[in-house]
Amino acid sequence: MKRVLLFGATGSVGLQTIHLLSQFKEEFKLLGVSAKSQLAKLIEIGEKLKPPFIALPDEGTAKFVQERLTYRPTILLGDQGLVELAQLPEADIVVVAISGIKALLPAYHALLAGKRVALANKECLVGAGFLIKEAQAKGSAELMPVDSEHSALFQLLRKEKMSLVERVYLTASGGPFWDWEVDELERVTPELALRHPTWQMGPKITIDSATLMNKGFEVIEASILFDLPLEKIEVLIHPQSFVHSLVEFVDGSIFAHVSKPDMRLSIAYALFYPERSDLHDLRLSFKESLILSFQPPDWQKFPCLALAYQAGRLGHPYPLILEASDEVVVPAFLEGRIKFTQIPLILEKTLKEFNIKRIPSSVEEILAFHEEVRNFTEELLNGIC
Ligand code: MG
Repeated sequence: MKRVLLFGATGSVGLQTIHLLSQFKEEFKLLGVSAKSQLAKLIEIGEKLKPPFIALPDEGTAKFVQERLTYRPTILLGDQGLVELAQLPEADIVVVAISGIKALLPAYHALLAGKRVALANKECLVGAGFLIKEAQAKGSAELMPVDSEHSALFQLLRKEKMSLVERVYLTASGGPFWDWEVDELERVTPELALRHPTWQMGPKITIDSATLMNKGFEVIEASILFDLPLEKIEVLIHPQSFVHSLVEFVDGSIFAHVSKPDMRLSIAYALFYPERSDLHDLRLSFKESLILSFQPPDWQKFPCLALAYQAGRLGHPYPLILEASDEVVVPAFLEGRIKFTQIPLILEKTLKEFNIKRIPSSVEEILAFHEEVRNFTEELLNGIC
């Protein structure tokens, strides 16, 4: 039986991981969880799976949770608590499903400690990919991507020679606006942007999908995970979301990964690897006709995609700047402070104007730098709205 730690247990990927762990109780034991919010859900998870360790942000949340649980787990607190949990010697697999750059703390330390890390967080790969790779090498750890496109690429590439790969394609649903005219984007509201056609996800990533910023981050993510130059990574709009990635080899053969759009498939793959689980309720049926379409992205309509390639080409710390700025810009759009079409403009301004005083190289420096960029973008926003 494998012992699992789950960081970010009450978010979208966290809850889907809990669903799988409850389904496969013979194979996995939940050893510890962390959560920052949605504490009622955390208490439910605690009562159901009784993890012996729980990491919480502070005394207040710890008291709230302890008073409501019928068993006595060991409670760990704050950033130090996240690090302690990630290093627990008895853990085998660490699922990192925290959103935002904070995921760097548990991901980095779990890799250093030699755990298999199932990484559902893209911010730490985009912003500090070199640190993640360094920790993985030092700890001789397995790093399993949980993002659906990267899980697909991992599966397509695992037995292949990278020198025979001509290019890879990441598919994008295109969000709700892929077939809108450019000038129509002026009237996009948060309500419209939050209606993602194929994936159920949190609000930040749903907006990032509508702007294609998410796909841009995924391009950087893929270049780090698979050591691929950006020129070998392309994006295809595929609104049905059944094909998650494609790999083209030098002889022109193209292989695709096809499945239902359900995150449990990528999570289960990372948990069971190198085996596979029987997820019969998630099988794709061809009893009805299935029509798949692919088209190149419209760069004018989705300037965020070009910004990601630009930041990726400039290298560290530009992807970190883009990612940190996006964490401020997206909530500003959701709160109605800026228009949808202003999102790429503010990101671009931050990339151009943020003054890099020093290149951050440690986990602590990355987190501090991230905060500086966020403050810079917040000031830009205050200047215009
Ligand atoms: Mg994805």
